[in-house]
Amino acid sequence: MEQPHAVIVGAGIGGLTAAVALHRTGWRVTVLERAASLEPVGAGISLAPNAQRALDVIGLGDEVRALAAWQGDGGLRAPGGRWLSRTDSDAAARRFGGPLVLLHRATLAGLLSSRLPDGAIRTGEDASLADPGDAGRPAVVTASDGEIEADLVVGADGIHSAVRRALFPGHPGPAYAGFTTWRVVTPAPVGPFAPHETWGRGRLWGTQPLKDGRIYAYAAALAPAGSRAPDDEKAELLRRFGTWHAPVPGILAAITPGDVLRHDVHHMTDPLPAHHRGRTALVGDAAHAMAPSLGQGGNQAIEDAVVLAHHLASGRPDTASALAAYTRDRLPRTTAVVRRSASAARLFMLTAAPAVALRDVGIAAVSRFAPGALLRGFDGIADWRPPVRTYAAQTERTNRTSQEAQ
Ligand SMILES: Cc1cc2nc3c(=O)[nH]c(=O)nc-3n(C[C@H](O)[C@H](O)[C@H](O)COP(=O)(O)OP(=O)(O)OC[C@H]3O[C@@H](n4cnc5c(N)ncnc54)[C@H](O)[C@@H]3O)c2cc1C
Repeated sequence: MEQPHAVIVGAGIGGLTAAVALHRTGWRVTVLERAASLEPVGAGISLAPNAQRALDVIGLGDEVRALAAWQGDGGLRAPGGRWLSRTDSDAAARRFGGPLVLLHRATLAGLLSSRLPDGAIRTGEDASLADPGDAGRPAVVTASDGEIEADLVVGADGIHSAVRRALFPGHPGPAYAGFTTWRVVTPAPVGPFAPHETWGRGRLWGTQPLKDGRIYAYAAALAPAGSRAPDDEKAELLRRFGTWHAPVPGILAAITPGDVLRHDVHHMTDPLPAHHRGRTALVGDAAHAMAPSLGQGGNQAIEDAVVLAHHLASGRPDTASALAAYTRDRLPRTTAVVRRSASAARLFMLTAAPAVALRDVGIAAVSRFAPGALLRGFDGIADWRPPVRTYAAQTERTNRTSQEAQ
């Protein structure tokens, strides 16, 4: 039988994971990426046990954990430095079956790309969906050298996905979430520090260590959509966070202005009617962009990719039934995570002094008298398990069955 061919539009976390997962289940994969080279944004990404378990399925979980720093110890602070709550990575690991880990995006992208055959990723390709295909005809993608027919197209082209617009032209798409974000990776400028997230009035700052000793810092603040600093984003961060507790001022002093990434946050509060049409499926932000407040956007993209490949693995039903099963699995879950991320974002967006004081007292009280309650915010998310064991285990089972049959 001829090897089925999947064309993946976009080489972000979702696209690369989908390519690796499909490749492992016997698909020929072509990844078309618009950027001239694979240079992932200079930022960290946290992976909760749910995404790590998905990566275990494609044989990458252990390597990711080895390359990452644990992200569980630390806590939540107020801008003056007072600890509102302390978190404990052991408690999180006990509750969810593993720790939360943080690694540089480039590390994750490099690891995923290394598992693809030479030539599978084509950069500098601004691809578009010409036809989503159906049971009787292939899907078609337009690339620089003409049209490519495919048994499957995966739209992994991110938040402003053109593949999504082609599949669901009537959908309103993502809406501005009301806040903007900054991210930067910087050499550690300060001595030892406790990882923290600090919540102020409509503002948030986080400092987390990377395994190689550098620091990943991120911030968020209410702002009109599209606004940018009149000078540079380092100066903007200094204005907004320069008086916050250590190590924030030390990190700010060490930042190179050009390294600061700024992105307004858009999310899809209206879910799509499906995550596929014809022979074309959507993964990651293209399907369900969400606020970063629970750090789940990339995690959900990884889950999508592994579940998609599971339904499309050889020996499964035809592509149409497999994609319908994919939508059935993923749409309710990702819709719930988008909503929970939006609710979590509303907490740091509070600006009225009485509401902020009440929030902080509440968090401190819960942390003191019912510490498990804070972790419960991740119940139903971080405890997710993939619908399939690792392919190694699957192959073992298949071998055993065929030996028994002989
Ligand atoms: C401040 C912030 C912090 C975050 N922190 C976390 C975190 O800690 N953990 C987490 O899980 N998530 C986090 N997220 C969310 C996460 O970044 C996204 O959910 C994730 O990157 C989505 O991956 P993706 O592959 O779907 O899309 P993207 O990463 O956006 O990749 C899409 C790719 O498609 C390419 N592309 C677009 N159009 C075309 C085209 N026409 N042809 C070819 N290629 C195309 C783009 O160039 C890009 O490479 C955070 C987000 C923000 C803003």
